[in-house]
Amino acid sequence: MSSEKDFSEIVSGLAKKRGFYWGPSPEIYGGSAGFYDLGPLGKLLKNRLENVIRTSFVKANFWEVECPTVSPEIVWKASGHLDGFIDPLTKCTKCEQVYRADNLVEELADGESLKGLSLEEMTSRIQELGIQCPKCKSELGSVEQYNLMLKTTLGLDQTAYMRPETATSTYLLFRRLLTFFRDKLPAMVFQIGNAYRNEISPRQGMLRLREFTQVEGQIFILDADEMNWAPYEEVKTETLPLLTYQSQESGSEDVQKVALEQAVKKGYFQKPAYAWCVWLAHKIFSGMGFDDSNMRLRQHLPTERAHYAADAWDVELHTKSFGWVECCGIHDRGNYDLSRHQEFSKQKLSVKVDKKPVVPNVLEIAFGVERPLFCLIDNCYDVNEKGEVWLRFPPHLAPIQAAVFPLMGKEELVGPAAEIYHDILDSGLVTQLDQGGSIGRRYRRQDEIGTPFCITVDYDTLEDDTVTLRERDSMQQVRIKRSEVVPVLHQLVKREITFSSLTT
Ligand SMILES: [Zn+2]
Repeated sequence: MSSEKDFSEIVSGLAKKRGFYWGPSPEIYGGSAGFYDLGPLGKLLKNRLENVIRTSFVKANFWEVECPTVSPEIVWKASGHLDGFIDPLTKCTKCEQVYRADNLVEELADGESLKGLSLEEMTSRIQELGIQCPKCKSELGSVEQYNLMLKTTLGLDQTAYMRPETATSTYLLFRRLLTFFRDKLPAMVFQIGNAYRNEISPRQGMLRLREFTQVEGQIFILDADEMNWAPYEEVKTETLPLLTYQSQESGSEDVQKVALEQAVKKGYFQKPAYAWCVWLAHKIFSGMGFDDSNMRLRQHLPTERAHYAADAWDVELHTKSFGWVECCGIHDRGNYDLSRHQEFSKQKLSVKVDKKPVVPNVLEIAFGVERPLFCLIDNCYDVNEKGEVWLRFPPHLAPIQAAVFPLMGKEELVGPAAEIYHDILDSGLVTQLDQGGSIGRRYRRQDEIGTPFCITVDYDTLEDDTVTLRERDSMQQVRIKRSEVVPVLHQLVKREITFSSLTT
């Protein structure tokens, strides 16, 4: 466990040193836990992840929307967040330090859990277990509910909350969306935007944030379509790495690679449309650089599920820092959300099926962008025995895709190098012109930030119009024509060709 914690510090150390992320923010005022700034490379990386996410949803026929991040209290009353989005807290009676009661028990009492207990039961369980304030060893106070939403005020006195997820704001658009989709369901939309959770003393850096970018895709769908879903037919032979709740209950962590249609046949998924959502989440995370060696789909145990949820699976990513990390939830929410908003808004949120009003169901894919971002840096981190570090990002995700070096800072070399740099930039890739220090030092700097390709302009360039192209992972070099630099880079970044195909 201690070595795992050290690794997360190594990752964060590199991330801070090279400008991926900084914090807690604002650093010069001591920082508030759960807030981070993205540096230039972190922002580029996050943009790349968001591009993968956006493209994947659009290809799957979802439409993007954007809603306000603040909504009045009634919205959160209706959504259930005001009453249900809560953590159990206990405060030390002496030093007044506040703790998450459930986490404290899990950390300090082996095998114990407060899951499913009432507040009174939690309080007496903590006393029975003899758990005291870890800081000053005094008695802990009674367990109380604490709402995780950030409260604010609109105008002089209207209570409002920062959204703790994007989904609710999307549900509120249902009537408008129905018109947009010409009264036809299913309707598929997604949103990428900020959400806020007022976590008590968040730790684990980028994994537990008070402000983060959330992605949520929603399908508004009727019962019949959930069982008869055309996109499922196209992908049903593809396999997914599944960890079912039955395996977990039998104490197994073994992932089974199961074809989608087998999983439906065996009852792991009840509905083809839901199975397709799990497939889509897996596809999005594959695009973000994870494969089945470091990704699994874990089904929630029946005790973990929200009361209205028919089924729930998570995408989990394996990290060297924290082991398996929950990164995405796929939820079958039934018609809970639209029914609640229909009740509270007194607006009709139903459609006609056989001349009767029916409130549609929601299938949902929900995740934050910062977690896969951290997991990717963690997974791509590599170090050799000399202590030299690489970030082995897949080329399509690397913040900087190619760096250009003039061999020396002489005008006759800097000129052509700058021209190549501008050509690459104009072609839509991100590049950097670096003239400082020896070529070896410059390669090392780019390896450390994950730049997959470097181009060096030398005196041969002036003779025969060729440059050296060097690949990060193999450290191999090849001479290519200057006119081929841009097309070859695009093919390499899109993985249409391999570097080794250039060397033979
Ligand atoms: Zn205390």
